[in-house]
Amino acid sequence: MTFDDGPQPRWTAEVLGALAGAGARATFFVLATKAVREPGLVERTLAEGHEVQLHGNHHLRHTEHDRDTIERDTDAALARLDVLGVRPSLWRLPWGRAASWTPEIAADRGLQIAGWDADTHDWRGDTAAAMVAAVAGDLRDGCIVLAHDGLGPGALRDGCAETVALVGDLARLAGERGLACVPVGENGAVAR
Ligand SMILES: [Zn+2]
Repeated sequence: MTFDDGPQPRWTAEVLGALAGAGARATFFVLATKAVREPGLVERTLAEGHEVQLHGNHHLRHTEHDRDTIERDTDAALARLDVLGVRPSLWRLPWGRAASWTPEIAADRGLQIAGWDADTHDWRGDTAAAMVAAVAGDLRDGCIVLAHDGLGPGALRDGCAETVALVGDLARLAGERGLACVPVGENGAVAR
């Protein structure tokens, strides 16, 4: 499971609680502008065995900005995360959208771009039950599930309660299929 657009005080804490309750570990692709305001949450996320990786400094769509702007945003994010003890190796691009030069920016900074295999569309406000049903067919070894522990631009909901509820349901379904929920960096199928 992966969570983008946080950390956000209430929802990240609740997602962490749900993950702990389910015995699941995950990857959080954070916005550095939010992470610097929540150092305690970042620390807790790491201490509980999850990964903290890069989403961006601001939430910029690479195809709508020039290369310099994205390089500056990325370097500002990495500098801010470094202060928090976070040195990302994975990068979830905002909206998953790369420009032609995005892979070079990633490679220059030792970052591997991480996509997803199953989209919960939780930002729309779907119920946990609907989201489990939507991703169940994709849930197999190596599957990366996209969800959000923060409200990003364009979110059609006013909270992440259904995402919190989804965590336990998804971990249970994974368990029934003999799968463990681990951070992307530990996911053998992805780290190939
Ligand atoms: Zn995002």
